[in-house]
Amino acid sequence: MAWKWYDSTVVRMEDAAPGVRRFWLQVPEQEPIEFKAGQFVTMDLPIHEKRLKRWRSYSIANSPTEKNLLEFCIVRLEGGAASDYFFDQLKVGDAVRFKGPDGNFVLPDDLSDRELVLVCTGTGVAPFRSMLLDIEQRNIPYKSIHLIFGTRYAAGILYREDFERMTRNMPHFRYSVALSREAGIRPEDFAFPVFQGYVHQIYMDAYPTPRPELDFYLCGWSNMIDDAVANLLVKRGCEKSRIHYELYG
Ligand SMILES: Cc1cc2nc3c(=O)[nH]c(=O)nc-3n(C[C@H](O)[C@H](O)[C@H](O)COP(=O)(O)OP(=O)(O)OC[C@H]3O[C@@H](n4cnc5c(N)ncnc54)[C@H](O)[C@@H]3O)c2cc1C
Repeated sequence: MAWKWYDSTVVRMEDAAPGVRRFWLQVPEQEPIEFKAGQFVTMDLPIHEKRLKRWRSYSIANSPTEKNLLEFCIVRLEGGAASDYFFDQLKVGDAVRFKGPDGNFVLPDDLSDRELVLVCTGTGVAPFRSMLLDIEQRNIPYKSIHLIFGTRYAAGILYREDFERMTRNMPHFRYSVALSREAGIRPEDFAFPVFQGYVHQIYMDAYPTPRPELDFYLCGWSNMIDDAVANLLVKRGCEKSRIHYELYG
């Protein structure tokens, strides 16, 4: 799939959690975007005079069946130029130019013998939501999927309703959440297992030995990815080819 430039319009914005917002960009009916779940686009934002300093990439968070309305889930980073633009300036009706789709962070076509472990923190969940919605909507066969999501507080759990629904409806789908700063977690408040701490303890405990059918997909910021890659390669002895990641920055 070749990328090209698109002119889109912001049609909806919604707060998803403190400091995280969902944005919906619409492209004209005659210009559907053929993308694979897990891919991203690169937006040209009016945040700098130099073209290359205006570009920021964002993972598509909706499923590929929706080709004219793309959803993005974006965190506000303190002092970030794009962050300030998204949270303080962008309005419904504004135009956003982007190129895409791009990226190789996609699942194989045949998942029937794959055990997928998807590990993310914060808005790193975006490509996994796209992949999981795709699997759910197209009934793609898979062996097992374990989504491990990490954030600081319970209020920061993104797309909670989607993943609760998948826990109920998709066989062999597991959803675990790690909250690093939430004190006094009450398990009865959640329909899925919640741990105090970081994502790392969850996959390290759940997958003590590497197996050829186990694939780890990691998405988020470098602090999480660096630790996870080191854990899986060095402490668990996983094959490099079984570890796939998308680094946000
Ligand atoms: C393929 C790809 C997909 C991406 N998808 C998404 C997505 O779906 N959602 C999303 O929210 N972001 C995503 N990103 C990150 C995004 O492209 C921007 O880097 C991010 O929005 C920050 O841009 P900015 O202009 O606000 O910050 P910049 O001005 O570029 O960044 C500088 C500021 O951010 C701070 N900063 C940098 N890294 C961190 C960090 N890890 N934690 C805290 N502060 C930090 C710096 O201290 C500095 O103040 C993706 C990145 C890539 C490469």
